[in-house]
Amino acid sequence: LLDPDGAVRRTVFAEVSDLAARTGAINLGQGFPDVDGPEHVVQVAVEAIRAGRNQYPPGDGVPELREAVAAHAADRYGMRVSPQDVLVTVGATEAIAATLLALVGPGEEVLAPEPYYDSYAAATALAGARLVPVPLVRREGGFRLDVDALAAATTDRTRVLLLNTPHNPTGAVLDEHELAAVARLARDRDLVVVTDEVYEHLTFDDARHVPIATLPGMAGRTVTISSAGKTLSFTGWKVGWVIGPPPLVDAIRTVKQFLTYSGGAPFQLAVAAALTDPDGRTAHFLTELRTSLRRRRELLCEGLTAVGFDAVRPQGTYFVVADAAPLGVADGAELCRAMPTTVGVAAVPVSAFCRDGGPGQQALASWVRFTFVKREDVLHDALGRLEGLH
Ligand code: PMP
Ligand code: GLN
Repeated sequence: LLDPDGAVRRTVFAEVSDLAARTGAINLGQGFPDVDGPEHVVQVAVEAIRAGRNQYPPGDGVPELREAVAAHAADRYGMRVSPQDVLVTVGATEAIAATLLALVGPGEEVLAPEPYYDSYAAATALAGARLVPVPLVRREGGFRLDVDALAAATTDRTRVLLLNTPHNPTGAVLDEHELAAVARLARDRDLVVVTDEVYEHLTFDDARHVPIATLPGMAGRTVTISSAGKTLSFTGWKVGWVIGPPPLVDAIRTVKQFLTYSGGAPFQLAVAAALTDPDGRTAHFLTELRTSLRRRRELLCEGLTAVGFDAVRPQGTYFVVADAAPLGVADGAELCRAMPTTVGVAAVPVSAFCRDGGPGQQALASWVRFTFVKREDVLHDALGRLEGLH
């Protein structure tokens, strides 16, 4: 395995959740809700199992879900997508891996804003290619994309621009100017854009999620990835998908056959029903989820600030990144190793979302990510414990 950057390693999420379990700490590290998704969607999965939908579904996904994903993209974003342009995957994680394995190879480069979700660098390395990080910059109270830096990092080896909006871990939502500039770069330099939009429904205030595939000239060069885990609060169901133009989806499908062939049929049927949403119950669930997440975001941001962190209020996702430097902490990774035992709270160092030993990692060394997709009483308890950092 050629992995010069050491990206193929034990993922930080397994590490942090293990540590939380071992120490009994409150786990604000790995992002998963502590309240289940909608009961009516659970019912569909249970009924599908009872109805005997228990054998291999088609490798592309059950037709019901491919149709529902296409209709969701059309209704919500005005995308022109046919069910043939949709490939169902085992979570967004498989979608990312299959896409990179299909589209890049040795000697080629993937550009990704840094910090980035850790599977991007690992999947790029598995494809034999290299991920080139381009630092997000702190501006206007948040982290923003530096499109000039992205352009400057583009070489004739660059094949893919790998975006993530709403962004894990910073919570940034790319605005229309940023998207337009990225689209221009992709068109000028003939790049494929792979965009991870798993938090597409989790935006707050006036932040609006816009898929880059909807910009002029982009549908033919964009692979849009999403998943039901975050939208429906069923992270353990692992139902994701890819939307893209036929030549790209064909290549991704070819790879996907040899990773998993297909994923759990009953879960796919349940997600199809949720997205189709004939009685508006999913829409209602999402409105409530956003409202309650917004409240929990305020709770966590204000609490972290009161403790002494420099916390950035996210526009989307369910994560807050916070600088621990004002607390006298230089090494966020060390803090995250210690916190479960010293104060009983687990979190993820932002350095785990950066190239090991690179300048981005150094710049964000004292930053830590906390999730707020936990019950309010749990967040109150965690914030009380974090007072112990003083
Ligand atoms: N991309 C991002 C940005 C994520 O935060 C996650 C974690 N949910 C994934 C991809 C993986 O998604 P899934 O659980 O659907 O594989
Ligand atoms: N996406 C989740 C996070 O960022 C973790 C998913 C995982 O455990 N692989 O916390």
